[in-house]
Amino acid sequence: METENLQQESGTITNELIEPGKNIKVRAIMSCPNCSYRKSFKNTFHRSDIETMVVSLKVFDWLSCPSCGEMLKMTLEFEI
Ligand SMILES: [Zn+2]
Repeated sequence: METENLQQESGTITNELIEPGKNIKVRAIMSCPNCSYRKSFKNTFHRSDIETMVVSLKVFDWLSCPSCGEMLKMTLEFEI
């Protein structure tokens, strides 16, 4: 009986994780390894917009520093 209860509980947790209608906050921090340039972008994505998010983030992948031209490093922070 106890095992059955545990299974039901984990089922509920899984459903919550994939539940639509929740937003994911993403912060992308662009920083230059060569100078002090630093910029951060914040965006909120709906869970069903994960694909849009990935496309948006890929744009940042090839950005270079406006000050010195070095390729920027990107750090992503997720707040789910
Ligand atoms: Zn730079």
